[in-house]
Amino acid sequence: MQYPHLFRPLELGFATLPNRILMGSMHTGLESRPDGIERLAAFYAERAKGGAALIVTGGFSPNDAGNLSAHRAEFSTAEDSAAHRPVPRAVHEAGARIVLQLLHSGRYGFHERIVAPSAVKSPINPHLPREMTPAQIEQTIDDFARAAALAREAGYDGVEVMGSEGYLVTQFLALRTNRRADDWGGSLENRMRFATEVVRRTRAAAGRDFIIVYRISALDLVEQGLAAEEIVQVGRAVEAAGATILNTGIGWHEARIPTIAQAVPRGAFAWAARRLKQAVRIPVVASNRINAPEVAEAILARGDADMVSLARAMLADPDFASKAKAGDRAGINICIACNQACLDHYFIGQPASCVVNPRAGRETKLVFSRTRSKKRIAVVGGGPAGLSCAAHAAERGHAVTLYEKSAELGGQFNLAKVIPGKQEFGESIDYFAERLRRAGVDIVLRTSPTDADLKRFDEIVIATGVDPRTPPIPGVDGANVASYLDVLTGRVQPGRNVAIIGMGGIGFDVALYLLERGSRATLDPEAFAAHWGISEKAREANPRHHITMLKRSHTPFGHTLGRTTGWVHRAELARNGVRMIKGVEYREIDPAGVHITADGKEMLVPADTVVVCAGQDPRNEIKGNHVIGGAKEASELDAKRAMLEGAELAAQL
Ligand code: NAP
Ligand code: SF4
Repeated sequence: MQYPHLFRPLELGFATLPNRILMGSMHTGLESRPDGIERLAAFYAERAKGGAALIVTGGFSPNDAGNLSAHRAEFSTAEDSAAHRPVPRAVHEAGARIVLQLLHSGRYGFHERIVAPSAVKSPINPHLPREMTPAQIEQTIDDFARAAALAREAGYDGVEVMGSEGYLVTQFLALRTNRRADDWGGSLENRMRFATEVVRRTRAAAGRDFIIVYRISALDLVEQGLAAEEIVQVGRAVEAAGATILNTGIGWHEARIPTIAQAVPRGAFAWAARRLKQAVRIPVVASNRINAPEVAEAILARGDADMVSLARAMLADPDFASKAKAGDRAGINICIACNQACLDHYFIGQPASCVVNPRAGRETKLVFSRTRSKKRIAVVGGGPAGLSCAAHAAERGHAVTLYEKSAELGGQFNLAKVIPGKQEFGESIDYFAERLRRAGVDIVLRTSPTDADLKRFDEIVIATGVDPRTPPIPGVDGANVASYLDVLTGRVQPGRNVAIIGMGGIGFDVALYLLERGSRATLDPEAFAAHWGISEKAREANPRHHITMLKRSHTPFGHTLGRTTGWVHRAELARNGVRMIKGVEYREIDPAGVHITADGKEMLVPADTVVVCAGQDPRNEIKGNHVIGGAKEASELDAKRAMLEGAELAAQL
């Protein structure tokens, strides 16, 4: 067995889990949809079939005030309990266990009825919460216990009490949000009474043989959060109150330290789980950025934790566990931590899915049935759209030939993989290359097919991607001007002063790339902790390049970046002194730099190298009967749309 610690059974006293893999809770966005239960049942059953031992659902509130948004995602009535039955049934039939997460949003709810221990507004929510009365506190604890009893009736194996990430339970614990002077505030003993009472009454209501996972905030990462020794005390207290498993969460949502973004090294917070494991006897779960079996195995082998929580990794590959068990590492579709189709979707009100696995969250809609009429299909272009289309079409039984002009597969992913923290894009390319090989795709590299080549195919899919746009600025063809392609492929080494034209995702990526080469390392957990001030060894920024970023529009800097990741990039650039100018009119580029007008003033942005990141145009000179990805529409192209279009087309061919 390649991962012996990962596939050791875990004894819970009244139940035995077959392995150490917990599928962590995620907001799927399906919780509040009319067809949500059917889709959730299919979503979780697929992950259960894939070998996860214990699944935690997305958060459901035990009462009205605790809803996360104006859309009801609540579990508080007998009707809710009856409606949920298909979910645990489907998971049990697939051989796993499932617990329902009870999440009271407290001051994080986006609606008018929110409550909290004290009337202290969150910096990430415009709504001011009302302070809870002692009677409301008692009622809320009872609501948790009643929801747990209803969960048992629905067939769930247990509940997870959401006590991390800054939600209500955490708000009681921390002085940052709890200013009360009664029995629920003041001393730590008083502040943790809410958490321990929730666990105690839940245990009493749901019985001894019911799993109670308590998700503890192993690190708060906010001012006036809990200190390390206080967190340990909370862990011990919830254990004594009757918790079965201590899961961990890292950082409040309002923390300004990245906890799951690409910049976070794999397994970076396992040390915080270890601190708890040393203090309690119940199993402790490590979480955050555990996306590969070797990372999980190392955490368990070191004794940092008893289980590992994988959430996004299970979106990317529902069969993660069974593939790892079979030793099929190359067959695992790795989560690249982009957040683009999962967490970012939550903030735009769309159901969660996954960039590298568009079927996630669409289990009942995007179905890849075996074809009954085998076709010869040419896919032209080996970027994300082409890879996705070729893989799914071949797996359905078609005879697929993939043409790629360059010497390697991956398209734009090859540029992304050189950006600091985005190295995992490279793994994704390797995965798809292996998947194509297994599906029997004929891969033809270094070839642009001619009309004659394409004649023999029944279907021709054009996925030729994009070309960098060259804006019509006088001097743009000068010797000191390069495109992002030149820089990211290493063809051009920029000088000390750099001006970047264009501030989309790629402009930010280029700036990060240039800074990384001079100032920091991202893959080492210790360096990461020092870099973000979590450990005491703070690092000074020492950028190699002086960078000025320019854009014509007046929109906020980085407004097109991901909702959950953009702030990390902005913070990184600010820390390295990157200058940003908006509302720019480009007049000319000459050897001295870029001449612009901004705020009505003419000025020179001195630059040894000017890097053009001004978007792309479609590359679609080869003709076919289907066009997908950037070749179809270059503006606002991203890997999410490319992979989805490839998969959707393949499902229909
Ligand atoms: P983009 O997001 O469309 O940004 C292009 C930038 O170039 C804009 O800032 C635009 O800003 C400027 N521009 C456009 N036409 C111009 C012209 N004629 N002259 C001067 N400036 C011009 O494109 P991208 O940065 O190449 O990114 C491509 C896709 O990849 C996007 O969908 C992006 O979301 C995705 N991506 C995302 C990330 C991320 O989120 N971290 C990273 C990489 C790529 P002004 O018009 O204001 O000047
Ligand atoms: Fe991972 Fe990105 Fe998929 Fe989310 S969308 S699960 S972060 S690969």
